[in-house]
Amino acid sequence: MAQAKHTFDENQAAATVHLSRFSADPLPHLIGGVSVASASAETFVNTSPIDGSVLGSVSAGGTEDIDAAAKAATDAFESWKAMPGTERKVLLHRVADLIEERAHQLAVTECVDTGQTMRFMSAAALRGAANFRFFADQAPAAADGKSLPAQDHINYTSRSPIGPVGVITPWNTPFMLSTWKIAPALAAGCTVVHKPAEWSPLTAHLLAEIAHEAGLPPGVLNVVHGMGESAGKALTEHPDIKAIAFVGESATGSAIQAQGAQTLKRLHFELGGKNPVLVFDDADLDRALAAVVFMIYSLNGERCTSSSRVLIQESIYEQFTERIAEMMKRVPVGHPLDPAAVIGPLIHPRHYDKVCSYAEIATEDGATVISGQPYADAPEGGNWVAPMLFTNATNTMRVAKEEIFGPVLTAIPFDDEADAIRIANDTEYGLAGYLWTGDVGRAHRVADALEAGMVWVNSQNVRHLPTPFGGVKSSGIGRDGGDWSFDFYMETKNISVALDTHAIPSLATEVKGT
Ligand code: NAD
Repeated sequence: MAQAKHTFDENQAAATVHLSRFSADPLPHLIGGVSVASASAETFVNTSPIDGSVLGSVSAGGTEDIDAAAKAATDAFESWKAMPGTERKVLLHRVADLIEERAHQLAVTECVDTGQTMRFMSAAALRGAANFRFFADQAPAAADGKSLPAQDHINYTSRSPIGPVGVITPWNTPFMLSTWKIAPALAAGCTVVHKPAEWSPLTAHLLAEIAHEAGLPPGVLNVVHGMGESAGKALTEHPDIKAIAFVGESATGSAIQAQGAQTLKRLHFELGGKNPVLVFDDADLDRALAAVVFMIYSLNGERCTSSSRVLIQESIYEQFTERIAEMMKRVPVGHPLDPAAVIGPLIHPRHYDKVCSYAEIATEDGATVISGQPYADAPEGGNWVAPMLFTNATNTMRVAKEEIFGPVLTAIPFDDEADAIRIANDTEYGLAGYLWTGDVGRAHRVADALEAGMVWVNSQNVRHLPTPFGGVKSSGIGRDGGDWSFDFYMETKNISVALDTHAIPSLATEVKGT
């Protein structure tokens, strides 16, 4: 379902209406179907990336709030688990219906809260609905297992939801990402405690509101806001929470692994990336160029699957980087609510400082910094950046090693196929890889050699929901998508039934004289 296009003025008018409610009272947690303040009454301030203005305050959850949410999720679990999958399917489709009905509200709210532009957030809102629909359809068969017959036994497996789970999400595309975790968990029959990112809390509230309106029973989806170090940590340590689905930085993943060790948490991690896109000189260079530009300058470059390192064959390096620079300079930076804008302000002053610092780091390391067009009408106080391209870079430079997570591309030359693979894999990360070539054999060889959870050949990131999504190395543990999601949110049981044909060994000695 396509979203109706709105003008800048219409989007701004909608933003005034939809955001006003968040400026009144502190954004509450939603626990057991009820809006509540933190037990401590503590709050934190949520600011706009556009001009630094205060969007409102948010309840800052801690151990007591997480405890209440875990209890609500535990209380709701048995009946949610027992509900036939066909009924869960209907409810989750209803959630998707309401997301579609409120897609413009969601997109506008997301734009103002994150700085991401309408062009992408309107699609992201609808993708949230698609995520719910996809997993809703799988709910009726999620518990089905396999039949594994043996010589003297029938073996069959079944699956059941693991229990209440925690979902911890980051600030980039927060609505879409949270649906990607929450929808399969609910479809599987788990109840959820969601801890959204503190820099972008608003759409998590709207999702819980929608879920409630759709008729999800109280306690099935709970939201606790707060800092990672307090609310997030408490969630990962809670004994009643059986698994944590986490999306965020690799370092946070390590912390969560340690925090979850005591209660033996099942963990699923989608972490950072420094994804390479390899451009060979035999590729369709026009298509490759458009995809390279799209995959780093869309979504503010604040995208885990962005191709932030472009590896270009030496013979075309100069010409291709010039073309990237030329195209980058025509990527419009603008107000997130302007339908013509591609790049909006970055999420937070701290992230802005980090991204901007890489211009200096690149220069110090010997790369050339090329900047795109800034936003001439940028409001004061916002986190506005122009896109950047670093040329003459090597893979040992910090701009090639570290995840910058902004509209910033590092261009590195390579000699031949072996060199391209070596450079591509010379990174701690391994989420996605992209490659452009006209040679079918090379496409398969390189795809096989890339150390990444996902590889796109002659394509940008085009998702197909039944396919596995996830990374290797420091980019993640586990896979989402299709049945992979259910494997995470469910326990598999094997049942073995004898056909009464096998010998049962006797351990006792024979009774003499009988
Ligand atoms: P982050 O790790 O700082 O925060 C993510 C979430 O974890 C937030 O909700 C935060 O409050 C929480 N958190 C922080 N410390 C915690 C702790 N000790 N215990 C429990 N929770 C804690 O990440 P971010 O800066 O919000 O997001 C950007 C990162 O997310 C980037 O590295 C990006 O690559 C990654 N990301 C990965 C994927 C993927 O699919 N691989 C998708 C999107 C984003």
